[in-house]
Amino acid sequence: MTSFEGFRCTDCGATVDEEGSTACPACGGVLDASYDLAGVSLDRESFEEREGAWGHRELLPLVPSGMGEGETPLVAAPRLADELGVETLHVKDEGHNPTGSVTDRGMALVAAAADRGGADTLALATTGNGGQSAAAYAARAGLLSRVFVPSRATFVNKAMINVHGGDMRVVEGRFDDAHESYETEREELPAADEETWFPAGAFDSPYRHEGAKPVYYEAVEALEWSVPDAVVVPVAHGAVVAGVWKAARELERLGLTERTPRVFAAQPEGCAPVVEAVESGDDPAPWDVPDTVVGTLEVPDPAGGLPAVEAVRASGGTGVAVDDEDALDTAATVAQHEGLEISVACGVAAAGAWQLREDGELAADDTVLLVNTGAGSKDADVVRSRLMGRGM
Ligand SMILES: [Zn+2]
Repeated sequence: MTSFEGFRCTDCGATVDEEGSTACPACGGVLDASYDLAGVSLDRESFEEREGAWGHRELLPLVPSGMGEGETPLVAAPRLADELGVETLHVKDEGHNPTGSVTDRGMALVAAAADRGGADTLALATTGNGGQSAAAYAARAGLLSRVFVPSRATFVNKAMINVHGGDMRVVEGRFDDAHESYETEREELPAADEETWFPAGAFDSPYRHEGAKPVYYEAVEALEWSVPDAVVVPVAHGAVVAGVWKAARELERLGLTERTPRVFAAQPEGCAPVVEAVESGDDPAPWDVPDTVVGTLEVPDPAGGLPAVEAVRASGGTGVAVDDEDALDTAATVAQHEGLEISVACGVAAAGAWQLREDGELAADDTVLLVNTGAGSKDADVVRSRLMGRGM
């Protein structure tokens, strides 16, 4: 049923058809699933008839059983649209996923691939949400999880990794410190018969970003096949922005939509390697001194930096960086004016949308899609602290 052909290395272009490959055997580069779209016959009606987040099986490398991820609500935000000065604004609310973040979509694929490949452990370094998700999906699949988080990860993330029975290493410092610790341990792993790790980090395998594609499929279907003018996405590792753009191109090539949206990458000013690369025209370079209260976006050297930058450029979009206070205030504004609980990462994207409107990148007749990557309640303390600091 699937039109899946195999994986292609995004760095050297090698094609890889061995099942179970996670990185390019030739160069270690990031793999991306490729499909024979000419052989896919999907019309809008058949697309709409499919049940569940993984109904579009022709466009997947494998179909996970999952635990209710995806099919998240697309919520209209008319007051914000008025304030922003655009035609319509919709929020794709990924906080409704099983562990409250968009990561669950890709993690369902990761867990299925790990199980099929005979691995017994999901392992990753994470800013937090990915670890919570990995611990949950490992538990679901009967696998172990080993999660390396920086000490600054949120209480909810750390607590829930424990609650799911994950083995958690809290590494003093930031994401890069956690990632270094993960790499060291991975290299020191004893013989594979003792413990077989499946890499569950973003772009450590071809699955996380592939799992983000339905975010866009579902949104466009809910908009009755009208393509938004702009999609504004908060960027950490780059999986969602790459997945959304890939999905947009697939729907266009299949003739289900007539065009693709402009895709905008939003990052905090204190850690904006993707935005900087989009603006400079160069490849992304590691961010020297990452410093933002938006911990989920504090990824100084994103594994999917290049795919993310290429997605934004190819779409005709651009990058936008906002300061932390602006992001927190905007998250509170969305909660107060629309009732929606968005993550502070989405606060970055929402504040970015305001900046893009001021810069003339968004127009008065635009329809705008904002991706809320996680549940607002996970970030309650940081937004509340900001409000109290302002005496509110
Ligand atoms: Zn390669």
